[in-house]
Amino acid sequence: RSKAHEIQGEMIGVKFRDVGGVGEAEVELREIIEYLKNPGKFSYMGAKLPKGVLLVGPPGTGKTLLAKATAGEAGVPFFFLTGSSFVEMFVGVGAARVRDLFEQAQQKAPCIIFIDEIDAIGQARTSAGRIGGNSEQENTLNQLLAEMDGFKANSGVVIMAATNRPEILDQALVRPGRFDRQIQVTLPTEPGRLEILTIHTQTMPLANDVNLPQLAKVTAGFSGAELANIANEASLLAVRREAKRISMADFDLAIERIVAGLQRKIPLSG
Ligand code: ATP
Repeated sequence: RSKAHEIQGEMIGVKFRDVGGVGEAEVELREIIEYLKNPGKFSYMGAKLPKGVLLVGPPGTGKTLLAKATAGEAGVPFFFLTGSSFVEMFVGVGAARVRDLFEQAQQKAPCIIFIDEIDAIGQARTSAGRIGGNSEQENTLNQLLAEMDGFKANSGVVIMAATNRPEILDQALVRPGRFDRQIQVTLPTEPGRLEILTIHTQTMPLANDVNLPQLAKVTAGFSGAELANIANEASLLAVRREAKRISMADFDLAIERIVAGLQRKIPLSG
């Protein structure tokens, strides 16, 4: 596996306007953004922000997108890695890699470190059902905990992490001073789905019969990633039939295909 999954302290162009249907999470992240824009203001008041923020929610609901938007809105560098690639890529050097990452981040503070799939390195050490548990993983986790403890409050580095299985995380990770703030990212409601469909069709030539509110209505249970997929699939169908615009029929067929692909039971009428 290449390092394509990694982003090392880059500036990010994503903004909250690119994320739909996550109103509550957005409100909670506003404070983090204020802090990253001006850490000094918070220290002056004696206010301490959480070092770690855990984004919890099902796959494809926009957790990564939200973390990027937080960096984008604050205008700070973004460090990105996934827990699984971390474990795969750096066999034997996991702990050293964590140290290196935090060192780099501190040099670029204020900034955000985002660890997707934190459960890959943060699974409970003592749980009987631990998959692939080994000392390598444990070393990596211990180093992560040590780095988080070593941080001074208000150092300007905010660590965000995402998981869809918070219950399997090692309790040490969610202790005060570590990932002590949780933000829930849920599947979008109908108005949320409309927001997401609007975002993803913004630059697409839509025929007059395309009814986005109707599409939002019939896609109960879909994640943001699946809605993005519908918009893309519909545009591909329109290209294939050499149409000038994407029609409602393209969307209907796209939904059918995606439902078939998912083999899920979604109420298409309500
Ligand atoms: P996973 O848990 O599988 O890593 P995730 O919650 O991090 O998923 P993202 O990777 O952020 O989800 O979402 C994948 C893509 O789906 C995004 O790049 C975006 O195109 C689309 N998407 C998902 N959620 C939203 C949303 N709330 N608003 C707009 N687009 C979204």
